[in-house]
Amino acid sequence: MTKIERLEDDISDRGNSLAYRKKFIDALGDPSKWEYTGNCTDLGSCCGHCICGHPIRFEFEIEYQNKKKIVGSECINHFQFINPELYKKLVDADMKMKEKLKELKRLAKEAEQDKEIEKLKGEYGIEYEKFIGKYDSYIKQNQRVPYDLWSARNSKTIKKNPPEYTKKGYYITWYGKAMKVIKKFTEA
Ligand SMILES: [Zn+2]
Repeated sequence: MTKIERLEDDISDRGNSLAYRKKFIDALGDPSKWEYTGNCTDLGSCCGHCICGHPIRFEFEIEYQNKKKIVGSECINHFQFINPELYKKLVDADMKMKEKLKELKRLAKEAEQDKEIEKLKGEYGIEYEKFIGKYDSYIKQNQRVPYDLWSARNSKTIKKNPPEYTKKGYYITWYGKAMKVIKKFTEA
């Protein structure tokens, strides 16, 4: 991009944001009169519209003389100096909504990890049975157990269960590593 192009881009950006701001003012009249209704909605995707015309995901409802309007997270900032009380309430609501969303994401991730751990536990359990069976079959047939198998079984380098971890991710890592080790015996 040349300097001229960049400048033109800059000007059109500024033009755009002025146009949005104009729409915003046009929709509200005097922004200092409006109050927050306490209603905010997460649409889940950018399918809503701010009064300025911007597509938005988070809707914040404001009212004045029984008229209700919707503003988005960005336009909240227009109220900072002209309506500080409303601004503070909207910023708080925005923060709470985003924290809630983060928490929901965290819970969803944990649920995914639980599912993954259950699956790995089942798969590893099968390998572990195979491992024990292999060892026992040498014993039953009165055969000498190959040294590495004997060693893995008796020095407990192959464990049946993971230790207690505080983070779910560690279990996934443990099963991944343990699976590689145990398969050296079960697939041999
Ligand atoms: Zn807006």
